[in-house]
This record gives sequence, C-alpha cells and structure tokens, in this order.
Amino acid sequence: MNPCFNFDNSYARTFEGFFAPCKADPASAPKLLQFNHALAEELGLDPVALDSEAGLAIFSGIAVPEGAEPIAQAYAGHQFGGFAPQLGDGRALLLGEVIDKNQRRRDIQLKGSGATPFSRGGDGKASLGPVLREYLIGESMHALGVPTTRALAAVTTGELVYRERPFPGAVLTRVAASHIRVGTFEFFARRGGVDKVRDLADYAIARHYPDTADAENPYLAFFRAVCDAQSALVANWMNIGFIHGVINTDNMTISGETIDYGPCAFMDSYDPDTVFSSIDRQGRYAYGNQPNILSWNLTRLAETLIPLVDPDKDRAIELLTEILQGIPSIYEKHWLTGMRSKLGLSTEDPDDLELVNDLLWVMKDGEADFTLVFRRLSQVLRGNGEAIQTLFEQSGAFDVWARRWRKRQEQEGIPAEKVALAMDRVNPIYIPRNHKVEEALDAAVEETDMIPFTKLLAVLTHPYDEDAQNNAYAEPAPATDIPYKTFCGT
Ligand code: AMP
Ligand code: MG
Repeated sequence: MNPCFNFDNSYARTFEGFFAPCKADPASAPKLLQFNHALAEELGLDPVALDSEAGLAIFSGIAVPEGAEPIAQAYAGHQFGGFAPQLGDGRALLLGEVIDKNQRRRDIQLKGSGATPFSRGGDGKASLGPVLREYLIGESMHALGVPTTRALAAVTTGELVYRERPFPGAVLTRVAASHIRVGTFEFFARRGGVDKVRDLADYAIARHYPDTADAENPYLAFFRAVCDAQSALVANWMNIGFIHGVINTDNMTISGETIDYGPCAFMDSYDPDTVFSSIDRQGRYAYGNQPNILSWNLTRLAETLIPLVDPDKDRAIELLTEILQGIPSIYEKHWLTGMRSKLGLSTEDPDDLELVNDLLWVMKDGEADFTLVFRRLSQVLRGNGEAIQTLFEQSGAFDVWARRWRKRQEQEGIPAEKVALAMDRVNPIYIPRNHKVEEALDAAVEETDMIPFTKLLAVLTHPYDEDAQNNAYAEPAPATDIPYKTFCGT
C-alpha cells in the first residue's frame, strides 16, 4: 500500500534558486526505531501503512514518496554573533509539505540523510544519540505546551558515522510549521535583494501570519507578529527552565517554534548563569541571557525588512526600532502571565513581578531545584509545606516568601484545592532530566536497548500526571563534582 502523503510543495514552487534539489543517501540496512502514530494521524497520514517496510524505506531515504520534491534549503545566519553568509541544510532534506487535519501546512524533513550542496565538508549524516535526543526533548516540549518542531520517526541506517569515534548512523523525520528562519531572511537579503526578501515575507505572511496581510503596513505588522511569537516562545522556555544552547539566527524560526535540539538541556537548581553547551564558553546562550538574545536576533531580522517597511530608510528604521524596543516588555508580559499561573494566581497585581523575582532570588540563594519548587508549591496549599522546604539549603527565606504568597493567593478567594489542581496542570513533575536522557541514549547507542528510551518518552509525554512508580524520573541527578556538559548534536 502506498502511504500517501498528499504533498503540496509551495516552497519548492516559489523559491527557485534559493534551494538545491537533492537526493538522500539510501541507508544500507535501515531499522525503524521509533514512529509517532499520534503525529502521523494529526498529519492526515496512514499510521499503519507507515509503521512498516514502506515507511521505513521513506524515513531512511531509500524511497522518495510520491509527490515529494526533496530539496536542501539555503539560509545564512549569525552564529555566536558572527555572520555566516552561507549555511543551509547541510544534513537535512525537505521532502515536501502536507496540510494536516487542522488545515495547517507542515514541512516533512529528513535530518541526517546525507550530504547536500550546503554540507561545507560535513558528511551530512547524524548519529543515533543526537537523533534520539531531538526526538525525546522535542516531544517533551510539545507535551509541555511549548511550540516546537516534532519527531515523526527515527531510524538507524545500518552505517557508522565518524565523530570522536564511530557511532550508529540515524535519520530523524522532523515536522515543522516551516523551516523558515531568521537566517533565511538574512540569506535572501544578501543574495536576492529587496525583491526576494519581499517574496519571502509575502510567503511567510501567507503561511504563518495571514492576518497581517490586511494591516496598513503588512511588513511592519508581520515583524510585530514574529516578535510576539518569539517572545512568547522564549517566555515559555524560561517558565520551564529550558536552555536552548545555540540560539543562532539560523536556529530561530519565523513561525515561533523551537527548532534544533542540539546542546539544549533543562536546568536543575535555579541559576540564571547556567550553561551546558561545551562550545558556549562566554555564556552567550546562558539561561538568563535568552531574553536578551531574543532581541538581538530579532534585530537581525529587522535589518532585512528595512526596505520593505518604508521607502524612507530613516523612517523604516524608526518604525522597526520602536517595535524592537518594545520586545522586553512584551516578553515580560508573556513570562509573567506564565509565572502567575505557575503560582496559582488568576488576577493581576502590580506587586506580582516582585513576588516572582523574590522567589527566584530565594531559589538561587538556596540552590533549589527549579522544576520541583514550582511543582511542590501546590502541596503548600494542601497543607504540606515540608516537601518544598527540603529543596532549599535553608528554608527560612522561603518560608517568609511563602507567607507573602499565601496572602496574595487568599485575596483571590478561590478554594485552595481548586488552585492546587490548576497549578499541577502547569507545573510539570517530569521534565527531561539530564541524567535520565543520557541513560536512555547510552542504552540505545551502546547496547541497542531502546527500553529506557521508550519508558522515558512515555513519562515525558504526560509531564503533569504524577505517578509514584515514576519517582526516579522526577528527581534531579545526584550531586557530582563534574558539571553536566552537552555537545552540538550532529
Ligand atoms: P546547527 O548548529 O545544528 O544548527 O547546524 C549549523 C549548520 O551546520 C547547518 O547549516 C547544518 O546543516 C550544518 N551541519 C551540521 N552538522 C552537519 C553535518 N554533519 N554535515 C553537514 N552539515 C552539517
Ligand atoms: Mg540549525
């Protein structure tokens, strides 16, 4: 049976010259490791037909499904602050686009399927660990309600890829609202000039922000919409302790989805300076610096839009600058809304910002686990203050804060149990704890044992549903003297 994708490839139709048609390297002995039935259904695909030899052939690059037009997309990007004029899909291929059950257009991409004209000397391959990491963390983010690219399938290729040592090769099938990045705009501006940026902006407007097409100045409205989506995204990350690790402009989508789970990780004890990525030596992408980078990256996008916004360059810059200057407060609004619901508050009070910041200060000082503090706050409402106190080195400062919080809470007049239940639906108990992720990937890579991965994935897809059997997944790693490090996944 033909697992029909019903491709409709608008990008390939529209941007001739800004991508390279390309073929995947067919895998020699592929195996289907993981397949996302629920996502397949959402995409309007036939999950049964795809969870088979026919699906395996597609996900491993052996068969090109009917209607696909595999292309490597060109993009540029600022990496750690420096401009790279030509990046592009060096290890990925866009098979095409499908319209999902909710009428949303989604990209289907193979990642790790071999070299493309944009590989710049790289092998275009991916190794199993990073592929499973992207699968796991992306699906966890989705379950946590954070906009993200998704994983449809993970396969091993039967070949080895060579990094510090040989590893099993793998391919991830990734699904995204689109793969248009800030870096795509930078590439179009550099190579195609105003006309091409306008084409790309028109396309992105139609695909992601159709309402802005009717605005008085559609390009300005488009920019404002991207700023809002990206601000909401980074606020989401901050609210769950997520550190992306490499927020270069080529890793920032126009749609506002999280993309590229390379060196990302979740923070354990709260510290805004937390950095896990081995290559981020200056802490550019540290947890607490993510909101600043948001503005920095959006400034790079703004630069590409100047000629579209107003024929008078100074006026265009003035208009864009005004929006850029508003980003910190838009971000803060999203962040504070998230924090209020984490604290079980449903009204707004001018002192809330201080209340949240004081809790964070107490957490930093007490080296308390970020996720567990928020999760256990609801227990305070249920009359059990002890569970949370043990998270702090000394709980005195927390107790003082908690009295303020309870007072603020009681003003709202909502029954404590009702608030506690609502809090348990926004404060996860299960996040991808670094040691659990490593354990699952190690078992898969070193022992071809997928059981720890499957179990972890199952826990992470229900991040709010506490189950005593899963206690081990809720705990931070036992303290060690060796700081956790992540590496750029290739
Ligand atoms: P990333 O840091 O993962 O966002 O990737 C940055 C750029 O490096 C992109 O253009 C990738 O396509 C490219 N790249 C990363 N790994 C490889 C690889 N193994 N082979 C070819 N290109 C790669
Ligand atoms: Mg990338």
